[in-house]
Amino acid sequence: MSCPICSKKTDPKYRPFCSKRCADVDLGRWLTGSYVIPGEAADEDERPAPPPEPPLN
Ligand SMILES: [Zn+2]
Repeated sequence: MSCPICSKKTDPKYRPFCSKRCADVDLGRWLTGSYVIPGEAADEDERPAPPPEPPLN
């Protein structure tokens, strides 16, 4: 197994990373990247569309 950040050999102490530095890099990506709360993000997409208006003729 290799570090997902820099592909070096993983250190068991910082698994799955090779060092604390790479673990911090990964954490930083989490915090600054697309961090979304699943429940709130899914809400908009899963809302059912309103029923179509019946034809008035
Ligand atoms: Zn690394």
